[in-house]
Amino acid sequence: MTVRTRFAPSPTGFLHVGGARTALFSFLEARRRDGEYVLRIEDTDLTRSTPEAVQAIFDGLDWLGLTSQEPAVFQTKRFERYREVAQRLLAEGKAYHCYCSRETLDQMRAEAEARGEKPRYDGRCRNRSEPPPEGVNPVIRFRNPDSGQVVVNDRVRGKVVFENAELDDLIIWRSDDSPTYNFSVVVDDSDMGITDVIRGDDHLNNTPRQINLYLALGLTPPSFASLPMILGPDGAKLSKRHGAVNVMMYRELGFVREAMLNYLVRLGWSHGDQEIFSMSELEQLFSVDDVNQSASRFDIDKLRWLNQHYLKTLEPADLAEEIRWHLRRAGLDPEQGPAAEDLLIALRERVHTLEELAERAKVWFEPLSDYDDKAVAKHLKPEAAEPLRQVRQALADLSEWSAAQIDQVVRGVGEALGLGLGKVAGPLRVALTGTQVSPSIDHTIYLAGRDQALLRIDAALAKIEA
Ligand code: GLU
Repeated sequence: MTVRTRFAPSPTGFLHVGGARTALFSFLEARRRDGEYVLRIEDTDLTRSTPEAVQAIFDGLDWLGLTSQEPAVFQTKRFERYREVAQRLLAEGKAYHCYCSRETLDQMRAEAEARGEKPRYDGRCRNRSEPPPEGVNPVIRFRNPDSGQVVVNDRVRGKVVFENAELDDLIIWRSDDSPTYNFSVVVDDSDMGITDVIRGDDHLNNTPRQINLYLALGLTPPSFASLPMILGPDGAKLSKRHGAVNVMMYRELGFVREAMLNYLVRLGWSHGDQEIFSMSELEQLFSVDDVNQSASRFDIDKLRWLNQHYLKTLEPADLAEEIRWHLRRAGLDPEQGPAAEDLLIALRERVHTLEELAERAKVWFEPLSDYDDKAVAKHLKPEAAEPLRQVRQALADLSEWSAAQIDQVVRGVGEALGLGLGKVAGPLRVALTGTQVSPSIDHTIYLAGRDQALLRIDAALAKIEA
């Protein structure tokens, strides 16, 4: 049988970190076993689902590369199918209409609580014989078995036993003529041929109810894996309070897909003490059976560390498009400055994110007008004029504009004048950037381009004269 996993978000907001991890684990589990991974949009809650949220989820999955070959299934397109299955359960006596009003249910709850029992529906409509009350739209309830146990062999949590006596008759169809979550999920997962359900452990209590539905429908339930929660750095459940829970915000903050995926996979899964994993490695190594039971904590410093690792090791050409995206976000025109690849090579030892890279890159895109007073006072002194003039001349004559050639020029001038490298590079750095901080001087000059480099050295010489 072909392994099929699915990611089934409810489109009520963005793709958040927890959802992205569920998608990744489902994707990887399918990959390792040569299976298929599919998407389902659980949009039956018409009041909370929006087309913008659907788009936001697709955007997030797209960015991470967690899309499916098959078109996504939308639950709102499947109401007739759910209705058909609900009718079948009714016809087979496995479900029944319930006419109990809100007041009746509230009273039932209060009485159970007064007796010190867990509030649950008492099944009074199971065997109704009187005619239905006028003008009441009934719900449909599933006739849950009264006794026995449901054993969930959860692939993360292990064996979890539920008593049927604790599970009441689940509503599968609402009085507003719509299916409920637990019901539509079972119909979908079986129709879609899902063999492995991987989802957050907030659904663990739904699992025995779903298993009972599978059995009533004569179906074999899939396997279940309930993933532990992700906590914020403060130990509370990761939420909007912790800032960037929308995965696309991590893109905006300058994290690259490879780092994000590597980071997400380690939230609950490990392989020895290895930290760095490529996707192709993960496709062979990841197994949901090895996911940890305990909650994991979100650690932004680790994500930053991983991100810099990928900035330093990925092919610059593969990041060029993403870098240009960040430059535009920073208000810069990628066509009017150094190449994205060159920026990365010059800056990747100094930045952890592409947002920081774009910020640092500004100095090569905009005319230099701001000079740091301290830097000027320290480096643009009369004795700096000669080395600046000589470097300017050599740069103007340089046959090939490359960082390596520029490095030779700077060193050559230092040697010819008997000056240490700092005495040449210091003034040049202030001339080129207005500050004392920049990447190595050869790259700093190279990124400016010849015309700007000469212009900026001229401006510095003018400052010295003034
Ligand atoms: N739509 C559910 C959610 O977003 C997931 C349901 C499932 O995976 O079974 O929590």
